[in-house]
Amino acid sequence: MRNTKHLIIGQGLAGTLLAAELLKQGSDFMIIDAFSPDAASQVAGGAFIPIVFRTLKKAEMIDEYLHALFKTYESLENLTSNKFLQLVPSLKLFHCDDFHKWQQAKKSPAGEFITELFDSVSITGLKQGFCSAVIEPSGWVDTKQLTGKMGEWFLGKNHLIEEKLDYSRIEFQKDGMVVHGKIKAEKIIFCEGAMAIHNPWFGNTGFSINKGEILEIDAPGLPVDYIIRGDVFVMPLGNSRFRVGATYDLKNIDNNPSEAGKQQLLQKLDLILNLPYKVISHNAGIRPAIKDRKPILGMHPDLPQIYIFNGLGSKGVLFGPYWAAKMAELLIHGKIPPSMVNVNRYF
Ligand SMILES: Cc1cc2nc3c(=O)[nH]c(=O)nc-3n(C[C@H](O)[C@H](O)[C@H](O)COP(=O)(O)OP(=O)(O)OC[C@H]3O[C@@H](n4cnc5c(N)ncnc54)[C@H](O)[C@@H]3O)c2cc1C
Repeated sequence: MRNTKHLIIGQGLAGTLLAAELLKQGSDFMIIDAFSPDAASQVAGGAFIPIVFRTLKKAEMIDEYLHALFKTYESLENLTSNKFLQLVPSLKLFHCDDFHKWQQAKKSPAGEFITELFDSVSITGLKQGFCSAVIEPSGWVDTKQLTGKMGEWFLGKNHLIEEKLDYSRIEFQKDGMVVHGKIKAEKIIFCEGAMAIHNPWFGNTGFSINKGEILEIDAPGLPVDYIIRGDVFVMPLGNSRFRVGATYDLKNIDNNPSEAGKQQLLQKLDLILNLPYKVISHNAGIRPAIKDRKPILGMHPDLPQIYIFNGLGSKGVLFGPYWAAKMAELLIHGKIPPSMVNVNRYF
């Protein structure tokens, strides 16, 4: 029998970041994950941006989120000798009717992130007729590589077991839980992404999961100095490859890339690009989003030995590091997370 204080179910971005926090704080943990190639973290764009385009305001809690983001991904890069975080300014293209709104935004608190404002765009490969703004800091995290490399690290240190959790094989005992007859855990933390809707204890905690589709294109000649943002983002990956994303579909919840999703992305792409490109790959995944668009973390109200850390939605890269640290504080020190993210708001 393996004994552990914390048994994490799921090693997507949420489980990985939580495990990394427990590791940092010297607390014992194990992870179970049944690798799924279409889990959100395996297909995500991984982009982050500090302002909300709809309102032209600073994203809520952005200073705290950015602080945690830089610190965390850098420490995981050092741990595994890999590069996960790419800092790339965003070039937002917008209709020139909105130029005045952007000028106002530049004078507001959001202005610290709007480093330049142009009344035109003259960049090879991009259509003209837009105004544009440069947003910094912005960039992306390669969540597939991060979870893959961290998975290898966890496996090497005997922190990871590669199998699917069977809920019916969790045996609740007085002093903990026995899982699959071979792991004894004091606490179980579910980090199952969208699969959490099947969880018998946390499945009804406000999930509003949605499907996202994303493309990789080959576009020789398109500049690589920016993440270009129209109605889709176009993110430079190197070697003339770009990631184009993403769709949001609340109705067709499956992992299958669809022709409709592809066409939607291509139509939006053609509004901003004016050079030839080739579609290289097309993927789909399900975002673990919550109705109020906030993460969910906390303890089950009737079963104090089981926990959830989920609901990273479409902002996992930005939300993950900050809330993983709060989750670790709850597990190690019993510090209750704020009500806006506490899972008890859905019980
Ligand atoms: C197309 C698309 C584009 C996106 N773009 C961005 C973006 O640009 N920026 C951004 O910040 N976010 C983006 N996201 C969202 C981001 O992917 C998620 O916020 C994040 O990856 C969620 O991580 P997670 O660990 O909660 O879930 P997941 O990545 O789904 O991981 C869950 C893990 O749990 C495991 N698991 C589940 N059930 C079990 C079980 N019973 N037993 C064992 N293991 C289990 C799975 O194998 C999986 O590894 C995008 C998502 C999609 C789909």
